[in-house]
Amino acid sequence: MSSNLLNATIGELQKLLESGKVSSVELNQQFVDHIEKHNSEVNAFIFVDKDFILEQAKASDERRSSSSLLSSLDGIPIAIKNNIAIEDQRLTCGSHILENFVSPYDATVTTRLKQQGMVLYSGLNMDEFAMGSTTESSYFGATSNPWNTERSPGGSSGGSSASVAARFVPVSLGSDTGGSIRQPGAFCGVYGLKPTYGQVSRYGLVAFASSLDQIGPLSHSVEDCAKVLDIIAGHDERDSSSYPTLDINYLQEIQNLEDYRPRIGIPKEYFAHDIDPEAAKAIDAVIDFYKTKGCEVKDITLPNTDLALSTYYIIATAEASSNLARFDGIRYTHRSGEAKNIMDTYFMSRGEGFGEEVTRRVILGTFALSSGYHDAYYSKAQKVRTLIRRDFETAFEDIDLVLTPTAPTPAFKKGENADDPLMVYLNDIFTIPVNLAGLPGLSVPCGFTQTGLPLSYQLIAPYFKEEHLLKTAKLFEDAHDYHNQHPQF
Ligand code: GLN
Repeated sequence: MSSNLLNATIGELQKLLESGKVSSVELNQQFVDHIEKHNSEVNAFIFVDKDFILEQAKASDERRSSSSLLSSLDGIPIAIKNNIAIEDQRLTCGSHILENFVSPYDATVTTRLKQQGMVLYSGLNMDEFAMGSTTESSYFGATSNPWNTERSPGGSSGGSSASVAARFVPVSLGSDTGGSIRQPGAFCGVYGLKPTYGQVSRYGLVAFASSLDQIGPLSHSVEDCAKVLDIIAGHDERDSSSYPTLDINYLQEIQNLEDYRPRIGIPKEYFAHDIDPEAAKAIDAVIDFYKTKGCEVKDITLPNTDLALSTYYIIATAEASSNLARFDGIRYTHRSGEAKNIMDTYFMSRGEGFGEEVTRRVILGTFALSSGYHDAYYSKAQKVRTLIRRDFETAFEDIDLVLTPTAPTPAFKKGENADDPLMVYLNDIFTIPVNLAGLPGLSVPCGFTQTGLPLSYQLIAPYFKEEHLLKTAKLFEDAHDYHNQHPQF
């Protein structure tokens, strides 16, 4: 019973709560006990506020006994990346500079989850300010991959993926600017969905690169992903990039797939890259599966793919340098004790507060935006971004989805590329174009290497066609068991 509960999907937990076999306090206590026992091995959580968790669970039980439940997800746990604001909880962004910052308000996604009565777990570890692909740049120590603690869980939402893989929580939220939900999802063998830019409010998400950032769920099943998306998607007047609410219920969409046979495009540029042989074999098997199912699979071209990485590293760093200017040691951040005047306060507080990777990006971004270089770098990158977007738009004229690997390799060893940031940047080649174009992408578990590391593929859909991602992934999930595997402790 106890391990069943930890391995359960949201749907199974809902049934347990409905049947009265377990209360929300009992259920959440089991997850908290599991976290307390094993978080030191994984470091998925920077901090765990047990009282906060159990108070929410108690309130849910009270609503249940007075028949005033807020939704069918009332009492179900969900963990939140520590760059998404929860009122009165620390919001560190994995950084020394925000180590003791407590959020005075809720992000819109937080409000929406609270309105459903879900039990929020704060404090998920992440790369500092979401810059990275390994969760090693966190000021609070690296997160480990639950499948093999010598390995990285991916990043920057490594706490979000590791916590779900380790069954610390059934579902979590991450943020994705260049792959940070999908790649950690892939490394940890869980689903990771980056919605269309504008689909989920960014209000209360600490900005990294505002034209690329999106919040999305990581989960054990397509259904759980759909359930969370149904809650968090929709218009928010507090986010100027927020899109009008769509009239769609994703959970409903994935119920009947009998006649659903999407047309799938395979971009030849993606497969021209060095892909780990075991990962490549798994993708081939996935493509064969869809063909056998009767889906039309055809080769497509996305000719500007190879320009995506350099474009991203101009745009993302430029936006980051501007967004991070607010952390100046004056208002709510770490302030250097050594500073003697205002200029020293800025320089020293930022110097002490930011880690190496964040500093590198602020410098890169400031350079790209500086006068005399703006046109050569930033303006040019914006133009290339348009080309990348158009590549996808043209491809989608006669397909429903694009299928690619999520990452060229399975989880890397911790510390493997510590001295070579470029190697780490290159690993994002398959996820970054999706953010540049603003499209939705989903990473889907599809097997394991000989040594037991998860493998995954990525589906990319046209704007606001998340239902295609979920339905196509569900076709695969219904015929396989990878998503039900879990690491042993
Ligand atoms: N790995 C990429 C980067 O370091 C993407 C990060 C993200 O999506 N937040 O910028």
